[in-house]
Amino acid sequence: MAPRAALYVAFFGAIAARSGSAQASPTTPDPATLRRSSFTWTQAEIEFGFGHWDAVFPTRPVPRGTRVRPLPAGKPLAALLPGTPGSEELERFIANEKVAGLVVLQDGAVRLERYALGHSASGRWTSQSVAKSVTSTLVGVAIKDGFITSLDDPVTKYVVGLRGSPYDSVTIRQLMTMSSGVKWNETYTDPTSDIARFYVDPVTPGMNATVSYMRKLPREAPPGTKWVYKTGETHLLGVLVAAATGQRLADYLSARIWAPYGMEQAASWSIDRTNDELAGCCLQAALRDYARFGQFVLDGGRIDGRAVVPDGWFEEATRRRFDTTYPDRGYGYQWWTLDGGAFAGFGIHGQLLYIDRSRRMVVVINSAWPVATSPERSATRARFLKVIAAAADGQSGSAANTAPTRRVAITIDDLPTVSRNFQSAADHDRLTRQLVAALRAHRVPAIGFVNEGKLRRGGAVDAAEVELLRQWTRAGLELGNHTYSHLDLHTAPLADYLNDIARGDSVTRTLLAEVHRQPRFFRHPFLHTGRSLADRARVDSLLSATHYRVAPVTIDDGDYIFAAAYDDALGRRDSVEARRIGDVYIDYMERVFAYYEKQAAAITGRDIPQVLLIHASLLNADRFDALARMIERRGYAFVTLEEALADSAYRSADTYVGPAGITWLHRWALTRGVTGGVFAGEPDVPADIAAAADRARR
Ligand SMILES: [Zn+2]
Repeated sequence: MAPRAALYVAFFGAIAARSGSAQASPTTPDPATLRRSSFTWTQAEIEFGFGHWDAVFPTRPVPRGTRVRPLPAGKPLAALLPGTPGSEELERFIANEKVAGLVVLQDGAVRLERYALGHSASGRWTSQSVAKSVTSTLVGVAIKDGFITSLDDPVTKYVVGLRGSPYDSVTIRQLMTMSSGVKWNETYTDPTSDIARFYVDPVTPGMNATVSYMRKLPREAPPGTKWVYKTGETHLLGVLVAAATGQRLADYLSARIWAPYGMEQAASWSIDRTNDELAGCCLQAALRDYARFGQFVLDGGRIDGRAVVPDGWFEEATRRRFDTTYPDRGYGYQWWTLDGGAFAGFGIHGQLLYIDRSRRMVVVINSAWPVATSPERSATRARFLKVIAAAADGQSGSAANTAPTRRVAITIDDLPTVSRNFQSAADHDRLTRQLVAALRAHRVPAIGFVNEGKLRRGGAVDAAEVELLRQWTRAGLELGNHTYSHLDLHTAPLADYLNDIARGDSVTRTLLAEVHRQPRFFRHPFLHTGRSLADRARVDSLLSATHYRVAPVTIDDGDYIFAAAYDDALGRRDSVEARRIGDVYIDYMERVFAYYEKQAAAITGRDIPQVLLIHASLLNADRFDALARMIERRGYAFVTLEEALADSAYRSADTYVGPAGITWLHRWALTRGVTGGVFAGEPDVPADIAAAADRARR
């Protein structure tokens, strides 16, 4: 984030456009057209480009290591769960502030994780100036490693190219605190400003591009007296660390932090015209790895018990050393210091790494603000950080010890309702009310998959049926596309199926827009995903063009069989039989859970966040409370489908094109060539209930 009168330009990459090609679908901007200042980007280009920075600009990789540090699931922030006022605030914040990724760690566990704008756990987002705090940390590492003797060393001891310039009398500490006294103008709207000229002025041959520019600047104040935000000086710190260590900045970051701390993905660092990292900007990393970096800072820079920075480094680095042009922010060593002992790295267009020591909490936000800086958006974000802090205070401490260890996303198909015997508007309303109330009571952030064909009565959209779906969206629940008429991809012509997807969301889209959301997930009817990879590719390309992601299922079951028998019993007013079916259903579902927990362990080697499929039936409306209690007893927290899919298991290969509508666990196993006994033991629906369902459906 930039100071008041100095809107900070990120990176004029136009000059340094790289020749490599990158893939772009017809609906996404072409990286080649983005090779110009990001300040000229449209909103769509910002949303694409910030998530694909490496495809647009030249970067150097920051490799990860072989080991990944787990980020365990913590207790979800109760005050932000669906159905709460906090949830509405969260959704509003994500939508209005163009949030692409948001994660909250407390005590090292993930208490909230969200993605939007097409970003995901597997993607990288540009840091903009959040990178400054990483560069600062590398100065600390270089001191600990003995490459730099002291922060009070003159800069020119390491960067010889600066000798004979105003930097002769400047110390590393003064660079760290943006107080060199060297004159610099960071107004990006002014083409004659330093930040604009920095990227285009000719480079003195044989000299690093940053040194070449910075050494010509005049002095405006004695060193150590005046704070001015200067991205050029963070670039200089990068040059200094590289010179002192004799290593590329990206390599040093990888070797000392990224690999040993256990980041889950490689990062990348933008490089300048002379192939040096732009240390003041533009590190690209996964959301969770930014969070891990924050946790590393909270941990005092210790990796496996050994400190990689000097003792007390982060206390010193995050102490307020200068007032800034923002009344509520001070400045430390390339960290902004905030009230209440918190500190942060800010980047333009809404990037944030926020660390609250007192709550042992890390908040990372990747965003795509339409503007580089905005006092209004900054204030909104500050207010939202208070909401998160309050939510964390609501249940910290011992809550962490009793946190559920498993996660499951509940997905409910065939909305608005499934019932043979109860078809009146009042019946549908009662079913929906009960199901939504039970979901809310257990704070389940469920998603419902809609067949919009069911909304029609006598050819027209029935307002009462639409109102059923609105009960879902008003409760903060998500809706997805399940095709218009529940077509079967394995029997319908492909063109019909594609058409059924395309016309499957017009009402849903409108309802979601009311709550500032968009449809994001598609569920194949019958879990039939195509009998050939070519068919599947056709479907997938339509889905991705319309920003849909296929919703997988890992826990499949016969709830619809129980539901048919249950519905029939109630239709015959046989409440004793209905109660019995309901009881057997919960027992059966518990065996199903146990089976798929073992399947996950056998196939993925661990407990993964599961995705359960059930239907919007009377049975589930009446019995969801009991079902949820069983699931909770097994140690599950309810998460969104998006959160579940963030797990790396969901990136497993799936080339299954067989006839069955099977779970994704089995698809992954079959794709890997696993066969036979692994799948044994799937619980059966009891024969009498299956027979009753058969009779009812005849
Ligand atoms: Zn269905």
